[in-house]
Amino acid sequence: SEAVGVRIAAMVGAPAAMVTSGAAAALTLGTAAVLTGGRAENILAIPDLTHMKSEVIVQKTHRFPYDHMIRNCGIRMVEVETREQLHAAINPKTALLLFLNKSNNLGQIKMQEFVEIARKAGLPTMMDAAADVPPVENLLTPIKLGFDLIAVSGGKGIRGPQSAGILFGRADLIKAARLNTLPYSDTMGRSLKVNKEEMVGMMVALDVFLK
Ligand SMILES: *Cc1c(COP(=O)(O)O)cnc(C)c1O
Repeated sequence: SEAVGVRIAAMVGAPAAMVTSGAAAALTLGTAAVLTGGRAENILAIPDLTHMKSEVIVQKTHRFPYDHMIRNCGIRMVEVETREQLHAAINPKTALLLFLNKSNNLGQIKMQEFVEIARKAGLPTMMDAAADVPPVENLLTPIKLGFDLIAVSGGKGIRGPQSAGILFGRADLIKAARLNTLPYSDTMGRSLKVNKEEMVGMMVALDVFLK
């Protein structure tokens, strides 16, 4: 699993990656990574967020049905529209700033500025680009801009295993995401199992797709 992640990350120039059971699972595990920070007591507690941050900020036009996978972690979505509202929404409970790639043109804050605002506030960002690859730039651009986590589907445009996906991102967060799922039994993400055939299939599909 880790070796596949290293090779996938190298293919696209991301710091780290892991194969997930679809982009939907990548959203859940990415959120769990941020919330728990990989700490044992938090991994055991989630989705009880009593001792963790509990809010995810999103532009109203970036809400989408799959953000339920983020709410699976017990967080509350905080919707904003303007820059001023975004700045005002940031508070000590803010865990993550969420961006939906395909809504880039719908929101007042575009992806580059979004990342910059998060950086200045010291907060992580997650991008969902599940169905927007190809073109491959839709995957490479958020990595270059510095989104901390990026979720894509394996079985859509990349034409890999239908129930696989990939979570790319910061090495410490991918490490934390891994601790919230298989092979660890007492985790929120234990049900998001990926089999070894799919991991290899996802790696090969991405390689073929990029070539
Ligand atoms: C399809 C889709 C998902 C879920 O992807 P799976 O790989 O099927 O889990 C998540 N987010 C968006 C925007 C999607 O279009």
